[in-house]
Amino acid sequence: MASPILFDNHGRPLNYLRLAVTDRCNLRCFYCMPEEGIAYLPKKELLTFEEIERLVTLLAAMGISKVRLTGGEPFVRTDLMKLIRRIVSIEGINDVHITTNGILTGPFIDELKALGIASVNLSLDTLDAQRFFKITRRNEFDKTWNTLQRLVQSNIPVKLNAVVMEDKNTEDILPMVELTRNQNISVRFIEEMPFNGEGSHYPKLNWTYKRILDHIRSAYPEIQKIEDPKNATANHYSIPGFRGNIGIIAAFSRTFCGSCNRLRITAQGTLKTCLYDDGVLDIKKLVRSGKTDEEIKQELLFAFAHRPKDGFEAEAHRHKKSISESMSTIGG
Ligand code: SAM
Ligand code: SF4
Repeated sequence: MASPILFDNHGRPLNYLRLAVTDRCNLRCFYCMPEEGIAYLPKKELLTFEEIERLVTLLAAMGISKVRLTGGEPFVRTDLMKLIRRIVSIEGINDVHITTNGILTGPFIDELKALGIASVNLSLDTLDAQRFFKITRRNEFDKTWNTLQRLVQSNIPVKLNAVVMEDKNTEDILPMVELTRNQNISVRFIEEMPFNGEGSHYPKLNWTYKRILDHIRSAYPEIQKIEDPKNATANHYSIPGFRGNIGIIAAFSRTFCGSCNRLRITAQGTLKTCLYDDGVLDIKKLVRSGKTDEEIKQELLFAFAHRPKDGFEAEAHRHKKSISESMSTIGG
């Protein structure tokens, strides 16, 4: 049977769910959390595995076919592999992806491969252990680096995510481009957004996607634009002769909203239909109030029919005017 197709009020198909399975994390990345961390949710406030399975099953029947598990650090959630096994077996879910900092991921790579995980996005903002420590406030570079090597060896498609931060890691941009010379990986440079638990770090973002591209082009004038996968947030490039490719994500400039196919469920069980909204539906409350699947479906459909057209409209309609929540609760 063909999968149903779900559309929003702007005619954009919705088929991709990003699910934050925890807000807890073993790093304290500068762009994501304050050094002292954030007030974590009590465990009972996280959706249980049963609740997640029910929601994903319901969304799959409505048209969601791709799920990304994120967090917080997803592998910090006890028994994460049990949840992954359940999600990959849900009818209609064709692709399961994971975003991780890689620190605890190593022991699970063989099973992830066996389960057919579609790709792993590994967050690594620098190739230098000292800068890694300064950015993440933890001394864990080697574990993330080893996970990268093991993922590449296992042939699980890997994307490296690097948030570009003024005065923190811009010297890493070109060495990270070099990683794509001999390895078939995608290195993605992300504009820094103000989701860091404190509010914007800068009066104006200086390292925009344009500046990142100009910087790469100054060293590799032969860089070429290549075709972007459907609904991609990144603009993709490659350097002739290199095995991998480069993505640049205008996460703050928001150039990709016109084809956005994403829904998010945050660690506290809130639905977001745009990264820049501050939550449009308390799904956990719905699930715990004894509503039927049909009643939950109607509430979801209402939310999908009132999606902002882009991140600027979503930001303008926020209840809390300024952005200060941590990406660790949203999931990226
Ligand atoms: N802990 C996992 C990790 O770091 O990969 C998953 C959660 S993390 C919140 C998901 C993604 O969001 C990471 O790739 C991270 O780099 C990105 N991210 C977090 N805060 C960000 C910010 N303020 N601006 C841009 N990207 C951010
Ligand atoms: Fe943790 Fe990921 Fe946030 Fe870094 S970006 S603090 S690894 S949740």
